[in-house]
Amino acid sequence: MSDRILWPPLARLNSPEASVQAPPLIHLCRLLPHPPGTLNFFLLIFITIAIFGYVACTSPQSDGLDILILNGKIVNGTGNPWFYGDVAIKDNTIVAIGNLNSKTAALVIDAEGLIVSPGFIDMHTHCDDYGLGEPSSNVNLNYLIQGVTTVRTGSCGSGTYKIADTKAAWEELGIGTNAVLLVGNMPVREEVMGDDQQRAPTQTEIEQMQELIRRAMQEGAWGISTGLEYEGYNKVVTTEEVIAITRPVAEFDGVYTSHMRDEAALMLDAINETIRISEETGVPVNCTHIKATGKLNWGLMKEAVALINKARDRGIPVSADQYPYLQGSPIGFITDLVDIPEDMEPFDELRKKLWDREISENEREQTRQQYVAELQQALKDPAKRRRIKASTYEDRSENPSAVVRWGWQDFRIKVAVKNHHLVDKMLLDIIQEQNRDGFDVIADLILEEPDILFASGSQSEEDMRHAMVQDWVMVSSDGGALPIVKDTDKQVRGHPREFGSQTIVLRKFVREEDILTLENAVRKMTSLPAQYLKMNDRGLLVEGYRADVTIFNPKTVRDNATYDNAFEYATGIEYVIVNGKVSVDKGQYNGTLNGKVLLKPQR
Ligand SMILES: [Zn+2]
Repeated sequence: MSDRILWPPLARLNSPEASVQAPPLIHLCRLLPHPPGTLNFFLLIFITIAIFGYVACTSPQSDGLDILILNGKIVNGTGNPWFYGDVAIKDNTIVAIGNLNSKTAALVIDAEGLIVSPGFIDMHTHCDDYGLGEPSSNVNLNYLIQGVTTVRTGSCGSGTYKIADTKAAWEELGIGTNAVLLVGNMPVREEVMGDDQQRAPTQTEIEQMQELIRRAMQEGAWGISTGLEYEGYNKVVTTEEVIAITRPVAEFDGVYTSHMRDEAALMLDAINETIRISEETGVPVNCTHIKATGKLNWGLMKEAVALINKARDRGIPVSADQYPYLQGSPIGFITDLVDIPEDMEPFDELRKKLWDREISENEREQTRQQYVAELQQALKDPAKRRRIKASTYEDRSENPSAVVRWGWQDFRIKVAVKNHHLVDKMLLDIIQEQNRDGFDVIADLILEEPDILFASGSQSEEDMRHAMVQDWVMVSSDGGALPIVKDTDKQVRGHPREFGSQTIVLRKFVREEDILTLENAVRKMTSLPAQYLKMNDRGLLVEGYRADVTIFNPKTVRDNATYDNAFEYATGIEYVIVNGKVSVDKGQYNGTLNGKVLLKPQR
């Protein structure tokens, strides 16, 4: 970990506003003699104007600006080519853009050699489920240090319908980035139907859900989200139910975001369903974290994009967001890919202990070692190995194994030491190369190197790039707000997306591979999400907009998080300004909490 992160955070900085004020005009007038006669009256006005003008031009205290960003290349979020210009900020607003060299301000940032862009808006996070309301992670540093000034929460059907309460609680605690809240269908369904959710709601229940959503929209939610792929929802939440709960969103000019019913073989059906929901309700829809997972489904993205383009041609406002990684979550040990029968001793007891939140990390690690040793023993015993194999392949409707649910085609190896040559290989390819049964291949790998890490939800590079270059695809991360990582923290293996989604685009897909122009990439992180949300005061660097600004070095900006070392902060983002206040200064977090929960303006 670099020494860039200050720990503990500094105390909140004083507002720069207080330090510089232009002297009031009345003080100047007192200095002048009382002139008799009309001519002298005009002379007085002339002198007053002259003095005032002189003071305005020369006094370091006369412009009343809080921040001046000079000499940068402005990439304003529209997708237009960069231009040289200066940016002036007063309070929380961008008040001027142009040649402002003669102006003064309480704080002047020299952005020579740097890109000045609108603050990034991440269109898909779980910062509400993980972190933003917690004192350990309210800074949201993993996003802030990447130039993200606003995170959209309430993703995949989760989140809350209590918008006003959430705003009050988060702002009392203080948050590092702004947040935009969608209402998830899950808390709404739970509030109305309680534990009895494995069925369609009655008409009365639909109306109660609509009322909850209406109230949330009145409190400032920007729309709703659903998670139709999730177990417990996939089979019972019909398209009709989603259409019904999306109708109140239309009354408020809001949006609908869908973690679609399927992201694998039935992906096209799922997109058609999403398009239909927009068509019937008139609400703009976003196909969230769009991808075609599983090797046997690779290539479907071409058809998916064509389907969305055709719908857009018909006038249906469909868009998508995408995390720029080939893998979804979760990532896990290769030992998780075999399914041990519930009654096989001593695994049930060990599993319970592994999931126990109360035990220490040391104890958990010891328990895992014990679990692995027991599993290796069982796999060496022919009878037990046969039972584990049968269980792994058993076609159960309730709680099927990962392999039955997704197939070997879904998984890719991401971390391996002894078997380093397998890193980034698809399990399906390894199995086919050996021309053996998949279970046997995995079982033998578990005997040899049980700490191999795999990741699921694998898409192809070609599919990902094809989606990425579409005009209507935004950049997102699908990650959470994490506690501040200290230099002394241990290396963490996991998905790197919450520490790298924006900066991997700027490094890999803009600088190294030229898949996107810098201007287009910034557009996908700024004005495109703002336009989808119908947010009309952020996402662009123009006069009158809120002062969320990200300043970065296009030659050095980079993600540093990997699957092997997932909690590594991005670098190369030099300044981040949130609501007109500096939060990241010369690449370092300054300890301030300048975020707000942004409410959708009422019509
Ligand atoms: Zn999701």
